[in-house]
Amino acid sequence: MNDELIISQRSLQEGFEFHYASAEVPTTSLCGTTVIPTQIQPMFWGVDSAIEGRWCERCETLARKRKVPDPGPEDAGYAPCI
Ligand SMILES: [Zn+2]
Repeated sequence: MNDELIISQRSLQEGFEFHYASAEVPTTSLCGTTVIPTQIQPMFWGVDSAIEGRWCERCETLARKRKVPDPGPEDAGYAPCI
């Protein structure tokens, strides 16, 4: 199952609004808005200086909740000294 998140966008009169969407359903955001998939890497979420637009706060919260069951990068990167 592909559980990856992508960044999708919605056009507004004054610019763009960015949302998270599941890679499986890239045209519907996590918050339920109809969106257009982008090529923006999820790691750029919230980087205002790079992209003109606003970031959906609901999607940010929902995306954070989805990530809770995964081990954090600290745990995954831990390698014992042998
Ligand atoms: Zn959203």
